[in-house]
Amino acid sequence: MPSHILSNPVDYLKGVGPQKAELLKKELGIFTFGDLLEYYPFRHIDRTKLNMISELRPDTEFAQVAGVLEYIQVIGQKQGKRLVGQLRDKTGTLELTWFQGVNWVTKTLEEGKSYLVYGRVTFYNGQPQIVHPEIELLTTPQTLTKDFLEPVYSTTEKLKSRGLGGRQIGKLTRQLFSMLKKTDVAENLPEPLLHRLKLADRFTALQQIHFPQSTTQYDEAVKRLKFEELFMAQMRMNLLRSERHRFSKGVVFDKVGELFNTFYKDHLPFPLTNAQKRVIKEIRTDTARGHQMNRLLQGDVGSGKTIVAVLVMLLALDNGFQACLMAPTEILSQQHFATIETLLKEMDIPVRLLTGSTKGAERKKILKELEEGHLKILIGTHAVIEEVVQFRNLGIVVIDEQHRFGVAQRARLWQKAAIPPHVLVMTATPIPRTLAMTAYGDLDYSVIDEMPPGRKPITTVHRYEQYRSKVMEFIKAEIGKGRQAYVIFPLIEESDKLDYENLMHGYENIKGYFPEPQYWISMVHGRQPADQKELNMKRFVQGDTNIMVSTTVIEVGVNVPNASVMVIENAEKFGLAQLHQLRGRVGRGAEQSYCILLTGVKLGKEARERIGVMVATNNGFEIAEKDLELRGPGEIDGTRQSGALNFKLAGLVQDRQLLELARNLAAEVVEKDPELVSAENLRLKGFLQLRKGPVAWSRIS
Ligand code: ADP
Ligand code: MG
Repeated sequence: MPSHILSNPVDYLKGVGPQKAELLKKELGIFTFGDLLEYYPFRHIDRTKLNMISELRPDTEFAQVAGVLEYIQVIGQKQGKRLVGQLRDKTGTLELTWFQGVNWVTKTLEEGKSYLVYGRVTFYNGQPQIVHPEIELLTTPQTLTKDFLEPVYSTTEKLKSRGLGGRQIGKLTRQLFSMLKKTDVAENLPEPLLHRLKLADRFTALQQIHFPQSTTQYDEAVKRLKFEELFMAQMRMNLLRSERHRFSKGVVFDKVGELFNTFYKDHLPFPLTNAQKRVIKEIRTDTARGHQMNRLLQGDVGSGKTIVAVLVMLLALDNGFQACLMAPTEILSQQHFATIETLLKEMDIPVRLLTGSTKGAERKKILKELEEGHLKILIGTHAVIEEVVQFRNLGIVVIDEQHRFGVAQRARLWQKAAIPPHVLVMTATPIPRTLAMTAYGDLDYSVIDEMPPGRKPITTVHRYEQYRSKVMEFIKAEIGKGRQAYVIFPLIEESDKLDYENLMHGYENIKGYFPEPQYWISMVHGRQPADQKELNMKRFVQGDTNIMVSTTVIEVGVNVPNASVMVIENAEKFGLAQLHQLRGRVGRGAEQSYCILLTGVKLGKEARERIGVMVATNNGFEIAEKDLELRGPGEIDGTRQSGALNFKLAGLVQDRQLLELARNLAAEVVEKDPELVSAENLRLKGFLQLRKGPVAWSRIS
């Protein structure tokens, strides 16, 4: 394993006093030699290339200029105090400005001497300037030629003003490498893997990512280190999963019994899609093995997850266990209850609904039946995980719309049984495959990637606000046919006064088009008391109102098959995932449905692209991929806190293939040698133990 030289504090480097060391720690998280080694440059500059000042243009990004520092001068006072200098080469002058570290910089520079200057060029009154340049004395001509590709590191204003700019950090790295032997940096990938993938060894890769002799060398180094990153993350995931498979105890569903078979043969309202069949098979295999299932089931809105939940619950019943289905809201659990009761009505299976509003005698009865084991299927909100709710033998918990439940809430469920029940989390938020592999890689994962047949795809159009009255006429026509419509306003922050006024204004406007008593409108937003919200939703669900004006609180799960129009106001303000979720509220019935995206005329490039994607496709997975591309993984819902995504080099969009490879190889290694005891895997084990990964927050239990 890494010899101790890498754990030396950075203070041990020449030129790094306690002050600089403190800054390196605070600003960049560099504590040790090892940290510095893994602080990679974000680019390299060609040291042999100098820019002439006269050729700098407003669109020049970075420039390297050599010249004489004609003067430096402190101007302004207090907050406005800054240092201004002028550098001249044979073609012109460049202004240099410092706002921070003025005293320190002043002391280190000398008028009349030649300097090499590097930084981002800006123009002010037609004059090129560099703010907080990196600057070094041009002593000998060699300064310019000693490296071909010089690394540049990201740094902070504070560090720059203390002489630790993006290039100076490279000097420290160079010094560090001069102290290192190859054996100081231990290899961590198994030899056969290195060989098979023709990857550079770790020391060489690290050296060449900092100081490449050519761009090819650099690319090879990056590839090796990216692979390492992805592979190690996948190893952690696979090890966790394998451990769970081998050591967690789970109830065994080893027979497919009468209930499952009867329902399957006689009461299925429609033939299952192949995707549904495959998923059920995956779950059956998983629950028969004797370890606890922790499975994420992904399926776009309307892909038919409910019937899968029902079949899986019947499987539990067939094996003598109880089952529970949990939904995030009262309305959703009521809907599930109604659906499931109807599906099972000819089968004489006790099903009950338990929510916050189940009170008194009914509640008592449910709790009693549950404890005695007569009640087989319980559906409800998080009321089902309250302390007082005791199952006799809970075999499986199905959780719908997972992101609404906190991890802690979920954890309470398994405390209800000596052997934890199986857990199936169903989510309708499509996650790109690469993201799922990294963020949920330690879970088992099933996906319904096929829609039931015969759906009419939702027609999505983009309209500018000027045509609002036409849109209203369209809604009127649909209502005339007996349909209902949603109009959604952005209310990103429930506390945002402006957004709120916008909603109220919109509501009044719509009322103008749709006056009572000919039309009825529901309105739902986050500032309403819960009971008012529920009531308004209910009226719309029951068809008592024609239009639902709402903020995004409507987003999750509500099912009104009769609604055929979804109008999204200020659609440019919504993210792709959200637009897709909102659109999923229509297209649930037999009628052709429409989604109308209203925007102003002026649209940013990215907003235009998002709207374009929505108009072009109904496929949630395609949309999720595009979302990932546009926003990057850190911004995708539910994964923000995931430490699993903190890659230094790899990117989920551009390194998709490498990720797949890493995933497959990690799975292979773990399959063959789950304890990592073979000689070739020892270094891997050592490395993984030494660097514990981030807590896998996404684990369900
Ligand atoms: P979601 O995955 O969004 O929870 P649901 O389970 O609510 O989807 O299913 C959406 C609709 O599709 C329901 O009306 C359901 O009855 C219907 N459905 C589900 N599976 C099929 C299928 N295989 N064939 C036809 N209709 C189906
Ligand atoms: Mg659903």
